[in-house]
Amino acid sequence: MEEIPPYSWQRLSAAEHNQPAIIPCCCFCNAYFVQYDMGALEQEHLRVVLLDRRNRVLEVVEIYRGSVSSSQVRVGEVFKEAVRKNASGIIVVHNHPSGDPTPSPDDVAVTRAIVQAGKLLDVDVLDHLVIGQGRWVSLKERGLGFG
Ligand SMILES: [Zn+2]
Repeated sequence: MEEIPPYSWQRLSAAEHNQPAIIPCCCFCNAYFVQYDMGALEQEHLRVVLLDRRNRVLEVVEIYRGSVSSSQVRVGEVFKEAVRKNASGIIVVHNHPSGDPTPSPDDVAVTRAIVQAGKLLDVDVLDHLVIGQGRWVSLKERGLGFG
């Protein structure tokens, strides 16, 4: 039996990074700074990272571009590709063009709705990351909208 590496919101040290037993959210955040350059986007983008059973990235899907607010985000839209591609988990990511990654009350409300829907759909919502200018926040880490 292969071990499934668990996802963690923890900001791991460089040494801990080399342990393949855990996928820290800072890895995802760094990917969003470097690979997708989300910290530099002028508009808000909401993306969903689709993960397989072993927490490997299947695909990154862009859900919305523009303002990400609870009135605009349809939870069904967030899970559409996850269900279609049979993902077992997702990580939601969006950026704040202001550069300040502090989650808004709307971000927390959206997260709560997504986490609840994930339970019904049997898709693990591992985290919601907000990317700012060189900084990021994990809503899971802060306990916002989770649990
Ligand atoms: Zn936000």
